[in-house]
Amino acid sequence: MGIDTHTAASPDAALAARLRRIAADHARPALASSLGAEDMVLLDAIAEAELPIAVFVIDTGRLHDETLQLLETARRRYGRAIEVFRPLEPAVEAYVRDHGLNGFYDGVAERHLCCGIRKVEPLARALAGRDAWLTGQRRAQGPERASLRVEERDVERGIAKYNPLADWSDDALWRYIERHDVPVNALRARGYPSIGCEPCTRAIKPGEDARAGRWWWERGTAKECGLHLPAIVVEHTAARPTLSSTGAA
Ligand code: SF4
Repeated sequence: MGIDTHTAASPDAALAARLRRIAADHARPALASSLGAEDMVLLDAIAEAELPIAVFVIDTGRLHDETLQLLETARRRYGRAIEVFRPLEPAVEAYVRDHGLNGFYDGVAERHLCCGIRKVEPLARALAGRDAWLTGQRRAQGPERASLRVEERDVERGIAKYNPLADWSDDALWRYIERHDVPVNALRARGYPSIGCEPCTRAIKPGEDARAGRWWWERGTAKECGLHLPAIVVEHTAARPTLSSTGAA
């Protein structure tokens, strides 16, 4: 059953309609939250509508204290279970032994290996048994995400993948946060619009795109960590409305 979000009265109602439809279409959907501002908006909307969408966080072991504090704030504020997945200790120990704790600065291969151990493998465990996952990705976050769609197919895992805020502008995001008094990472106010692991994230300078502070020492590589593998866009027939514009942009 689909919901035509074109008819929703406001961005909030349109977002709730998108989330409701995802919850109706899937038995075991889950939000993969990085505790970024977008993920906090999605958590807020999911909690507000009391939807059966699970929420999980990957604690890589290298997160900022501010990010871990936000996790506790979110638990208190929303009273929902937020499951935490961590990397496998033997894999982390082997990486540190072979490459050093901060071996990711040595090259792209070392960086991808670290992200694989600390992020991608825990994500695979978190998504085992799930039939859909949600992310807070937006097109406005940078060139790598310019063609992002709301509704995709995670071909690697064979499940649905949704980016319910894909078409939201920065303004729309921050208007929602202000309207709903959504808690956000204290680092945002210090110039961190995109927050990952502590050693791999820096504040951005005026005019830089939102993800310029991620793996800033790398040149000419995609600013992604392997969590978001290539997906295919789902095409719909006229009989099934798309999860189209929320009017939030
Ligand atoms: S972002 Fe940095 S510290 Fe975090 S998993 Fe990737 S390489 Fe490792």
